Amino acid sequence: MGIFEQMRAYGHEQVIFFQHKATGLKSIVAIHDTTAGPALGGCRMRPYASEEEMLLDVLRLSRGMTYKCAIADVDNGGGKCVIWGDPNTDKTPEMFRALGRFVEGLGGRFYTGTDVGTYPQDFVHAKRESSYIVGVPVEYGGSGDSSVPTAFGVMQGIRATAKKLWGQTDLQGRTFAIQGLGKVGAKVAVSLAEEGAHVIATDVVADNIERVRSRVPGLEVVGADAIFSVECDIFVPCALGAVLNDHTIPRLRCRAVVGSANNQLEDEERHGAMLQQRGILYAPDYLVNAGGLIQVADELHGANPERVLAKTTAIYDILLRVYDLAVSRGIPTSVAANQLVEHRLQMVADLKQISVGSVKEA
Ligand code: NAD
Repeated sequence: MGIFEQMRAYGHEQVIFFQHKATGLKSIVAIHDTTAGPALGGCRMRPYASEEEMLLDVLRLSRGMTYKCAIADVDNGGGKCVIWGDPNTDKTPEMFRALGRFVEGLGGRFYTGTDVGTYPQDFVHAKRESSYIVGVPVEYGGSGDSSVPTAFGVMQGIRATAKKLWGQTDLQGRTFAIQGLGKVGAKVAVSLAEEGAHVIATDVVADNIERVRSRVPGLEVVGADAIFSVECDIFVPCALGAVLNDHTIPRLRCRAVVGSANNQLEDEERHGAMLQQRGILYAPDYLVNAGGLIQVADELHGANPERVLAKTTAIYDILLRVYDLAVSRGIPTSVAANQLVEHRLQMVADLKQISVGSVKEA
């Protein structure tokens, strides 16, 4: 497929290629949809196998950001940036300054920060050249560790799911199986233990398990593969994408799946429907893991922790709306979430047709 055909297929507004010979920067920014506001999305650095793979990645990820911003009621559109290179060997401060200058040239249509393969420190360099950079360290004006609001959002998703399943948010005595005790998973494990829940967990890095052990009384540890078939109330994937697939869904022995991992459904349509058929309630990942995005987006309005907390708290109500819509329409929850997004974007596009009285519309 040609580039315009791909843009049409995914619904993109704009795709920009950047190259800077002296620093070796090769980057693509994809702006998917700016109905709700300027595009926002992290910058991923990977040694892609080809230009085609790089383009597909940025198109897919930027489209996902449109959905994530819209469902979390954040006034931004979806965008993403990718850099072609090995993050361990090809990075230089100058490369990120060059990226910053290119992003600055987009005049505020796109804001970016860290993603897989890039770190807040990289964007300290980019920020020297651009005012459209977010997620830098606190001492440079950033809003801090995004895993804190992300974990809180997951807990809100868990509470909403408990309400739907059992009519109450009390987690005392319930059992949770957590895959991945990293930045988000560890915080969720501690919060669950504080609420009197029983936690079963796995991680491929033994140190990450040991780090939480003393703060999660009664922690039960299982092997990396065993986590899928553990008997529990809620499975909490906080490690990798594509963990809900043809092989794992039949093995699940839980009532619901609520976790932070991105792109949990290997095939959104097929595996969302498979979970529905098995009677397992699925909390759409891009809603329950939106806390970090909410925090980063809030930097554009002056970084107010109370506002971040309020917006992340609302994940509870939004998820209950998704569940209700799925039941009333007889559709998988993943489809219901997408429908809510599409409805919201349509409403915003429609209200932006109201003239605000100036010649040049905002
Ligand atoms: P992290 O890298 O700190 O933690 C991931 C953990 O999963 C690590 O401890 C790792 O050892 C473990 N792991 C990897 N493979 C595993 C496997 N096969 N089985 C069990 N454990 C395994 O990352 P994080 O920031 O905690 O994020 C977790 C997930 O949530 C990721 O998918 C991430 O994309 C997503 N997410 C994170 C944020 C955030 O704010 N940090 C926001 C949105 C989404």
